[in-house]
Amino acid sequence: MDENDEAIRTPIVSVLGHVDHGKTTLLDEIRGSAVAEAEAGAITQHIGSTVVPIDVIERICNPDEEFDLPGLLFIDTPGHHAFTTLRSRGGALSDIAVLVVDVNDGFQPQTVEAVKILDRTETPFVVAANKIDAVPGWKTQEDAPFAETFAEQSERVQNDVENALYEIIGDLHDNGFQADRYDRVNDYRSTIGVVPVSAETGEGIPDLLMVLVGLAQRFLTESLTTRPNGSGEGTVVEVKEKKGLGTTVDVLVYDGVVEVGDTVVVGGQLDPIVTEVRALLEPSEKVEINEEDEFNRVDRVVAAEGVKVAAPELDDAMAGAPFVVVGEDDELGDVTQRVRSEMDEIGVETAEDGVVVKADTVGSVEAVAKALDDAEVPIMNASEGAVSRRDIVDAETADEREHRAVIAFNVDVLEDAREYADEALVKLFEGDVIYRLIEEYEDWVEGMEEERAENVLDSVVLPAKFRVMHDHVFRQSDPAVVGARILSGTLERNVTVERMGERLGTVQGIQSQGDDIDEATEGDEVSVAIDGPTVGRDLKEGDVLYTSVPEKHAKALEQEFDELLDDTTREALDGYLEQKRQVDPFWAK
Ligand code: GDP
Repeated sequence: MDENDEAIRTPIVSVLGHVDHGKTTLLDEIRGSAVAEAEAGAITQHIGSTVVPIDVIERICNPDEEFDLPGLLFIDTPGHHAFTTLRSRGGALSDIAVLVVDVNDGFQPQTVEAVKILDRTETPFVVAANKIDAVPGWKTQEDAPFAETFAEQSERVQNDVENALYEIIGDLHDNGFQADRYDRVNDYRSTIGVVPVSAETGEGIPDLLMVLVGLAQRFLTESLTTRPNGSGEGTVVEVKEKKGLGTTVDVLVYDGVVEVGDTVVVGGQLDPIVTEVRALLEPSEKVEINEEDEFNRVDRVVAAEGVKVAAPELDDAMAGAPFVVVGEDDELGDVTQRVRSEMDEIGVETAEDGVVVKADTVGSVEAVAKALDDAEVPIMNASEGAVSRRDIVDAETADEREHRAVIAFNVDVLEDAREYADEALVKLFEGDVIYRLIEEYEDWVEGMEEERAENVLDSVVLPAKFRVMHDHVFRQSDPAVVGARILSGTLERNVTVERMGERLGTVQGIQSQGDDIDEATEGDEVSVAIDGPTVGRDLKEGDVLYTSVPEKHAKALEQEFDELLDDTTREALDGYLEQKRQVDPFWAK
């Protein structure tokens, strides 16, 4: 075999879903049933992952067709944090995903979040509608395929299951995915299969495995092509201190081969790390007796496989970073450059003024940043780790009030940081559901904008349109006092009024039935004292006057606060603008 030979590698499968919907149990069940079916040793436990070989899957599922895949590799850590952290060349590391949804609980916030992530990363997935055994009245048949066990259920239980599935199918539809019960799906390219399962009893698990293998086989074979002798590429899953080995990295190798002695480049906190593989470690088959027996040393691993790598200089390595073997024909400089640019890509685009982002992993920082970008919220600073006082100080320096915020995803807030945030008027948003955090942030900004708008509306001159009534001239001048009918808007005291763009004078007072009032609105008939004009010369009965709205105010009203204006104010404003723009088309634009 030479290094250009190609083979199909094991597809990498992630399990996602809302907390408590059964992700961990499902992974355990798949491992458990695989072990039960396999001859001793046939299922391989890798570092951070489990491989179920194809013959074991075939024994569990009894499929009609033969599969070419070597098996399925399940990433042991379920959840979307792991999913977003694990990437390969800018995309998701997982080839396929299982979205676990509790049939009795339906879609929950993290389910929606997971769907959004899968959508964004274009990862094909199946839905495991879990806990069917908990539907009231369900009769369990351990490990049975769905059709078999479903046929044995009462009509009422069958109806309840169908209804629960329709709910899930509806929720998927609301999130932009066409879906159906897996055995009713004709084309998995356009429709998501929903497989009813129980992670507790094993029911439906054969169906789930079958759908997964089918999906991978039919739609992914191209991206599953690997060079079993090419230089290895992988993703750091975890960075761990190990006694006697120093800092090690757990790597999921998704392409090629990694051998002891290989020079590798690993993404680090600051710069790519260049080092040499000292040891490759797999979990020992033996029960753990002491540290020595925990691992087996191997000379080489071939994709896809999870392996612990011991090498010098790994202290700065990061979870989610690329791990690339420098092959015989590769230039070290080229590989380093590639790793560097991949790390830069993980980096977040920052702005002069924006919010501060903290999250638990490289991948989640990126996911939060992406979501903020979609919401058009600029980021000043984004990093991994707990929220410290330093982060609050950073947020405090933002110019815009709405950027004085820290978005903290799945991380702790140190006590002094929390105290200082209160003092510095920096708003903290904490949570473990990205889109919720963003909604909360947006609500906060909206609240501030409304408040600001109210203040502004209090301080701008509001438009009014009114007519000088016939036979209602009470005084000619100094001031002129006339009867006025307000046609639209609100007439206030102390505003300037104009006729056809010509300033007439200032409203000194407004009276209604002999009483002084501060303002008059549409439909009111009042007497108005205007200092400046003389009736008969500057002003006559029947004239239509407008309040003079300063150009800046008019612009703010039209462009920023339009939504807050009531109908009559808008009507007065529109009339005023129309008049102004007949003279100057760009007035207040
Ligand atoms: P995770 O948070 O998604 O990993 O959920 P877990 O796997 O920890 O499961 C949460 C709870 O649901 C545990 O108490 C499980 O025993 C239970 N559970 C998981 N799957 C099933 C199932 O298929 N049927 C029933 N009845 N309970 C389940």
